[in-house]
Amino acid sequence: MSGKKVLIVYAHQEPKSFNGSMKQVAVEELSKRVHEASMSDLYTMNFEPRATRNDVTGALSNPEVFKYGVEAYEAYKKKALTSDILEEQRKVQEADLVIFQFPLYWFSVPAILKGWMDRVLCQGFALDVPGFYDSGFLKDKLALLSLTTGGTAEMYTKAGVNGDFRYFLWPLQHGTLHFCGFKVLAPQISFGPEVSSEQKRKVMLSSWVQRLKSIWKEEPIHCTRSWYFQG
Ligand code: FAD
Repeated sequence: MSGKKVLIVYAHQEPKSFNGSMKQVAVEELSKRVHEASMSDLYTMNFEPRATRNDVTGALSNPEVFKYGVEAYEAYKKKALTSDILEEQRKVQEADLVIFQFPLYWFSVPAILKGWMDRVLCQGFALDVPGFYDSGFLKDKLALLSLTTGGTAEMYTKAGVNGDFRYFLWPLQHGTLHFCGFKVLAPQISFGPEVSSEQKRKVMLSSWVQRLKSIWKEEPIHCTRSWYFQG
């Protein structure tokens, strides 16, 4: 559908990686269909993942005892956040859909992407108290996790050694994205590209491209406890 804007937040060090290919085919497919597909290529940007005092320009509201969440909230309101955060917030604000492309690290996102979440999705911008989950400030937007694993699909079943893949999605999709209001589309999980045949990897890439062709027709998942733990 034309007129839609997509932001891809991409966290892999190597363009020739499977994640790099997933990102590349998405860019190619989306740019055929949307007005704008913007990109945050976090390693290439050398994105700062640490949430520190440096994120606030000017005076702190409490210079005696530094409290990141409070200072980031105050700085957001005063437009005193550092420019790299403001730029990422601008990209999120403009997007109808944010796609996160990354390899699973310790059942979670790589540190550089975790840092993006810590710093960009600050109080005031993405949420407030009250003003979270279905009232989160990003409630008019969609989000989608596209990730790769080292483990196989069988390992990520209820009976498998890693447990159901939905368990590790709870903190990311529910505790982070839904908390900020995002409507969450079903994840795109490419299981075990390193242990898959070349042909299987091609199938994973083409099923991603196929999915993107009709992504705007998809309904978000019901991001509730039962989706994760009783499905
Ligand atoms: P790559 O090794 O880059 O790619 C796999 C293969 O695909 C390569 O042979 C590549 O050449 C090939 N390829 C690239 N492009 C194409 C293309 N266009 N067509 C066909 N083939 C192509 N895994 C877990 O399951 N759970 C964890 O908790 C976990 N924690 C981790 C923590 C750390 C710190 C690290 C480093 C890894 C962890 N892993 C874990 C493993 C990690 O998730 C996988 O190594 C990663 O997902 C593999 O993706 P990749 O893009 O790096 O693969």
